[in-house]
Amino acid sequence: MSRFHTHIVLPMAEPERYGGLAGRLRQIRKFERMPEEEQRAVQQQRLQQLLEHAYKTVPYYHQLFDDTGFRPSDARVDRPLPLPMLTRNHLRNESNALLSTAYPPQDLRRAGSSGTTSTPVLFHRNLEALRDKTALTLQLNTWAGYEAGDRVMMLWGAHRDMALQPSWRWRLYEQVLMRCTSAPSGFLNREILERFRLRYEKNRPKVLYGYSTVLAAFASYLQENGIRHKPQIVIATAEVMNEPNRKLVESVFGGTLFIYYGSRDIGMIGAECSKHEGLHFHPWGSYVEFDPIGDTPEGPIYRLLVTDLLNYGQPFIRYDTGDCVTLTNQRCSCGRWFPQVTQILGRVADGIVLEDGSIVPGISVGTQMAQMGHTFRAISQVQFVQKTHEHLHLRYVVKDGNPSAKQELQSICRAIDLLANQPMHWTLEQVSDIPRERSGKIRLCLSEVAAHKEILQ
Ligand SMILES: [Zn+2]
Repeated sequence: MSRFHTHIVLPMAEPERYGGLAGRLRQIRKFERMPEEEQRAVQQQRLQQLLEHAYKTVPYYHQLFDDTGFRPSDARVDRPLPLPMLTRNHLRNESNALLSTAYPPQDLRRAGSSGTTSTPVLFHRNLEALRDKTALTLQLNTWAGYEAGDRVMMLWGAHRDMALQPSWRWRLYEQVLMRCTSAPSGFLNREILERFRLRYEKNRPKVLYGYSTVLAAFASYLQENGIRHKPQIVIATAEVMNEPNRKLVESVFGGTLFIYYGSRDIGMIGAECSKHEGLHFHPWGSYVEFDPIGDTPEGPIYRLLVTDLLNYGQPFIRYDTGDCVTLTNQRCSCGRWFPQVTQILGRVADGIVLEDGSIVPGISVGTQMAQMGHTFRAISQVQFVQKTHEHLHLRYVVKDGNPSAKQELQSICRAIDLLANQPMHWTLEQVSDIPRERSGKIRLCLSEVAAHKEILQ
């Protein structure tokens, strides 16, 4: 990793996120070099420390531990914690009781959870947690061979205007120092993909990083229109990558695809290693549990529960990510014992297809809702069903008698109209639940309209 970037550029450019980065990276790397037994002992100690902190300073957990008779010293990293899960509905209902009293409000940083498996809620983390998570993300990037400062092109984000008129500061930091090109992916059509292509060929990135469906759409476009440069590394994140898209991306860009797992609320916590036998969850950042929920044609599936070992501002203990996974009994040939899953069966979303063939990637719909920056207190789940090019049918689950439901629905519709750059025709339907599909997936967008043939959904 470039010491110039990790010691100087990043901490100076964004001290909020990168303060103390070099020391944090040293700590994570030291952990990675320890023998397995020592790593397990460190994880055990970090888990107990978090639980003790939660008991002492978080009213919700104090009450819960007392009610269930649980003591933090009982926790063991080789078995499930005997506690109920924490769900996004807890975050909707008990936001203040979930905060640690050890931090004054000004020391906590607020963000919105992803909007793909349920409507977004606000959550908090302490500054140290934000910095630790950023360091862990950079360290996981190195598993794929991506070092800070490598030439990278990012295909993500919903803000179309971000890169069109960048300020000189942004250009200096992102483009010159970090050698990063962004291609915001809230809206895709041939013209935008051509712009991506030109930028990509000009910058010749070592690393291509992006949402799975956007990478696939870009790969499909390049396949038709020619590709001269091949990146060394492709990293796909934020949503499930299906097998046809994986094959397409690998064949167009070469066999270097890595799938990463993370979300806005817990950060990047899992990554494929160079053996590509599944994803590992990094035990320095989280303690994960796999809660069996049933069988599918592909075998048993498990709910992914995460205890975040970094966030002391608002501890997440046995947090239901909304994603399911499949497991393997075999240890990865890379030798790591880190918890490993073969597949993430989580967030999937068709794109919304407009009359002229433009597409709003489904993942961007979730991102857009998360960026609305407030907790959805009334509407807990939504599913968009596209009936025609202009017609979106919104299915939603509402908590009884909550007066803000109408307002929240309006703001969702408005946000999607903005993303699509046109007013859609909306119909609304209240339902009691939006169940998981049999495969374990949760589908945010379901399009009954055939996509423009050049752009994948
Ligand atoms: Zn491995």
